[in-house]
Amino acid sequence: SAMFDTLSASLSSAFKSLNADAKLTAENMKGPLRDVRRALLEADVSLPVVRRFIKKVEERALGLEVLEGVTPQVQFVKIVSDELVQLMGAEGSKDLNPGQPQVILMAGLQGVGKTTACGKLAAFLKKRRKSVLMVATDVYRPAAIDQLVKLGSKVDVPVFELGTAVSPVEIARQGVAKAKAEGIDVVIVDTAGRLQVDENLMAELQNIKAAVHPTDTLLVVDAMTGQEAASLVKTFNDQVDLSGAILTKMDGDSRGGAALSVREVSGKPIKFVGTGEKMDALEPFYPERMAQRILG
Ligand code: GDP
Repeated sequence: SAMFDTLSASLSSAFKSLNADAKLTAENMKGPLRDVRRALLEADVSLPVVRRFIKKVEERALGLEVLEGVTPQVQFVKIVSDELVQLMGAEGSKDLNPGQPQVILMAGLQGVGKTTACGKLAAFLKKRRKSVLMVATDVYRPAAIDQLVKLGSKVDVPVFELGTAVSPVEIARQGVAKAKAEGIDVVIVDTAGRLQVDENLMAELQNIKAAVHPTDTLLVVDAMTGQEAASLVKTFNDQVDLSGAILTKMDGDSRGGAALSVREVSGKPIKFVGTGEKMDALEPFYPERMAQRILG
């Protein structure tokens, strides 16, 4: 099944219900816009985002000239498509920020796929001929360190760890120092998973950030959690200033709300999407392609 099946089907039927001969008007767009609005809400896009989206589509459609040879239907679909791309962050780069080494700090709630994403990102970068070091700072769960070490051997990337007796800040500092000394291109710092937004762990993240000056701080969120994922990105961004998000589990039957809401709700881009459990199931996030998938 394709990504966002339900959303795609609902949008396509919204487009079919458009009955305009010559020109898009407030009148003939009323029904279709209502259907688009409903489709987005059902996909779990947050209400304020949907409202702004619909308003923009309507404004642009009403300002259109009648174009020779272009049906109002085609124009309407084009506007929705353009606005979907805008919504997901057309402007600006989704690339990782530069640095030598690049230091990527990874945060996330437990179970979202953060550790897996560290391994996938390491594999992704290695494939692009970067040397990579992963750093294990989740000293609260020895199993988390083991898991990262296992993933490291799977993707053939070394993992720096100092067990559970050294502070996360110190481990991160030493890991990044080692990478600098050895001329390693990218350091991926895995941080403590957390059950919920937790003050102590947020402070720890701020301290690690202050100690190692990451070039990217990415929050890993689960696409299955819809608009909740977007508000988590906002919450973390308010407290630690993220550079972006990684959206995992896009291969599941997520409805699209997270992909469509993160940028608008948090102001930060999705940089990568996870599309499976395997180590090669990570792709850069391309809003244009995503909009194309959604519109079928
Ligand atoms: P963490 O607690 O955030 O570190 O989560 P893990 O990395 O341990 O992942 C939790 C579960 O989600 C594991 O079973 C992973 O295999 C699975 N998982 C992670 N990313 C993806 C993904 O993109 N798609 C799917 N289907 N499963 C994923």
